[in-house]
Amino acid sequence: MLNFDYRRPESLVEALSLRKEWGGKSSLLMGGTDLFLAIEEEVRRPELLIDLKKIDELSRLEEKDGSVHIGAAVTYSELIRSDLIHDKLPGIWESSRLVASVGIRNSATMVGNICNAVPSAESAAPLMVRGAMIHIASSSGSRTVPAVDFFTGPRRTVVKDDEIVTSISVPLLKGKFGESYVKLGRYRGEDIAQVATAVLVDEKLNFAIAYGAVGPVPMRIPGAEAVLKGKKPTADLLDKAKAEVLSTVTPIADIRASREYRLHMCAVMFEKAIAAAVSRMETGAPAYGARLI
Ligand SMILES: Cc1cc2nc3c(=O)[nH]c(=O)nc-3n(C[C@H](O)[C@H](O)[C@H](O)COP(=O)(O)OP(=O)(O)OC[C@H]3O[C@@H](n4cnc5c(N)ncnc54)[C@H](O)[C@@H]3O)c2cc1C
Repeated sequence: MLNFDYRRPESLVEALSLRKEWGGKSSLLMGGTDLFLAIEEEVRRPELLIDLKKIDELSRLEEKDGSVHIGAAVTYSELIRSDLIHDKLPGIWESSRLVASVGIRNSATMVGNICNAVPSAESAAPLMVRGAMIHIASSSGSRTVPAVDFFTGPRRTVVKDDEIVTSISVPLLKGKFGESYVKLGRYRGEDIAQVATAVLVDEKLNFAIAYGAVGPVPMRIPGAEAVLKGKKPTADLLDKAKAEVLSTVTPIADIRASREYRLHMCAVMFEKAIAAAVSRMETGAPAYGARLI
């Protein structure tokens, strides 16, 4: 049985000062859907839990200065209910609907998801393709890290022991664009991804492509993006781009899938994700949230 202290600061300043004092002996608590499991399994042994849910400024979800800002305490259910997310960040809306189940999504946050940093973290690939930025504070100042540089290994990020992630900002896009998020699970319902892919395409046919669950960290696939850049994705180009995907990802075998199955599905899902993103940009169909696999 583990014992730990519990504090629920009402301001970020107070939370940061606790973080400075307790450092690596503290754990930050949002929805707790990952953290409590880690404590139960004794993977984490915090001496202090700092519950961030009472801090008002972390609950903001707003459009400001050309970006959508998602506060650290915003839950997946709030994201899914938001017209702002649905209309301006449809790939993030689509992927948020695939996290766990309603019960979990009512507590779970996007910031908790990326800070937990498992390779299959649902929000990683959709944030990467949108060029999202992660805002991090400590009592000595704040810094901003691109989502693509946030993950440093399985369950590891750039966040230091005296820091707190305060929000995520996602730049708004001008002009027409299409997005898609394809998640492969073993069954419908609560299951983390065996493979996940996110695609963004704009009207100049610039593609952003990212994968989750097929390497130690979620990743962009710059080689495939370069192959498709500025061109209609013909069968020949898609084959070349797929080869880039397969030479970049490094899936493992685990209880969810073999390495070979993951590699095979990376290619299958690539075509589906590209087709859906391009079609959504050109025709608006299939609707966001429609099943893509
Ligand atoms: C049944 C079940 C099904 C699930 N299904 C999915 C799924 O389909 N897809 C998926 O991706 N995940 C899934 N998860 C995992 C989990 O629900 C998500 O990762 C969730 O988004 C975590 O958010 P949280 O607010 O609960 O984080 P918490 O558990 O509170 O925190 C997670 C980690 O992030 C750290 N942290 C939290 N906030 C901050 C902050 N502001 N700054 C720095 N560090 C912070 C915590 O200290 C902890 O290490 C599932 C979990 C369960 C129990």
